Amino acid sequence: MISLSHIQKVYHTGDVEFHALNDISLEIKEGEFLAIMGSSGSGKSTLLHILGCMDSPTGGEYRFEDTLVSDLKPAQLDTFRKKKMGYVFQQFALMKQYTVFENVEIPLIADNVPKKKRKELVNEALEKMKIADLADKLPTQISGGQQQRVAIARALLSGGKVLLADEPTGALDKKTGTDIMNVIKELNEDGMTIIMVTHDEKIAAYADRVVRIEDGYIVLSDQS
Ligand code: ADP
Ligand code: MG
Repeated sequence: MISLSHIQKVYHTGDVEFHALNDISLEIKEGEFLAIMGSSGSGKSTLLHILGCMDSPTGGEYRFEDTLVSDLKPAQLDTFRKKKMGYVFQQFALMKQYTVFENVEIPLIADNVPKKKRKELVNEALEKMKIADLADKLPTQISGGQQQRVAIARALLSGGKVLLADEPTGALDKKTGTDIMNVIKELNEDGMTIIMVTHDEKIAAYADRVVRIEDGYIVLSDQS
């Protein structure tokens, strides 16, 4: 499904070059649950941003199914991302002034889905995440675990088969984190491809495979 070949990412700050990713080659199969681990500053988020089409590599090839993503122009990359990817972040990234329902509805509005169909799809996603009773609440009125369920419901309606998660339990207590990991694991069992960044071994243990990166290089890739 996904193939990275000798991916590099060089950041330029003034006239200083910083090599965040040096030589990343990685294959990810459809339906896989992959964890990316590494110490702070190792390049995990940079790699996830490239995989999630939020940023382009400065070298190497990224192929997603039949598309050579690394050749896409920024506007094409943006369209591709909205069609193929859903995201979950550590801090949930919900719109504070919008209700739970409205937050989950956002990708459908961006997709020009008619109102009646939107209502049906949003309610279905909220039920799947067991938060249908929270539809009219604001993010500030619900718990962290509930907010992450809203973020996952929104990601599901992005329409893609890939869910990217950057430290999805990083802002949650242990029990709520376990709940959220069980939700993510269930989505994987239903066929969703999951790519998750974490520095927590217990969280990484939910994945089928762990890739470790250090200084922008893969140092270990184990299949379990
Ligand atoms: P991680 O998520 O593993 O903590 P990141 O991928 O966020 O690491 O960052 C890897 C390295 O790249 C860090 O040293 C960071 O300072 C640097 N970096 C990240 N984004 C930028 C940027 N936009 N400009 C310059 N350097 C950056
Ligand atoms: Mg990071």
